[in-house]
Amino acid sequence: MATFKKCVDQRISKKKSPIPRLTAITIINLLGDCYGELEHARRLDPAEELVFTILSQHTSDTNSGRAFRRLMSEFGSLEEVAKGDVSRITRAVSVGGLARIKAPRIKQVLNLILNEQGNLDLTFLAEMPLEEAKSWLMKLPGIGPKSAAVTLCFSLGMPAMAVDTHVHRVSKRLGLIGPKVNADRAHNILESMVDADDVYPFHTALITHGRRTCKAIKPRCGECPLAYGCPSYYLFAETEK
Ligand code: SF4
Repeated sequence: MATFKKCVDQRISKKKSPIPRLTAITIINLLGDCYGELEHARRLDPAEELVFTILSQHTSDTNSGRAFRRLMSEFGSLEEVAKGDVSRITRAVSVGGLARIKAPRIKQVLNLILNEQGNLDLTFLAEMPLEEAKSWLMKLPGIGPKSAAVTLCFSLGMPAMAVDTHVHRVSKRLGLIGPKVNADRAHNILESMVDADDVYPFHTALITHGRRTCKAIKPRCGECPLAYGCPSYYLFAETEK
């Protein structure tokens, strides 16, 4: 941390000095050193993860977690959810918000998988090339690049970069992606910056940083181990005082 403080102090004293470019690997290493244990994603069965991602759209992790647990305790299994009445599914997931949209979507997605595969076992996706597996999931209604990446990465250990609101915000502030690049486009850009083995560590490093330090409102730039290479440092450091 002392070296980082020195780097930041040097930058503050010489505002015009060029900003060193942070590589993805440097970011992973610096954030790993800073936080120690990075925040790891939940591990669910891939079909469960897919349903979880639908529930997590436009709500907090806490609410989507509650909605998922209620859904599973109400129905016992996703096979039962697939057969379930939409109004009953809606009641079960109401705590997650947008239940009238999410409930029919969950039922539809599960039934489409059942019709195509005969069961809800999605582990066959791990045998496919990454882009093919993403395309297979994204042809399902309501499944975009984020839901596909989360399912493939968290459940099946595939090197898909999941870009949530934290990863998207931190990547923009660090200049890893341009200011106008949306989250959907950011998946492939960020994924291409690291080797397959480093995709998940890159995700966990950025999400941990976004939750703990590079917060949406009032990022704590004065404590940030990436400050010396962050093009947004001066933007926020001034307002931090
Ligand atoms: S210096 Fe500030 S804006 Fe840049 S990554 Fe760190 S916390 Fe975020």
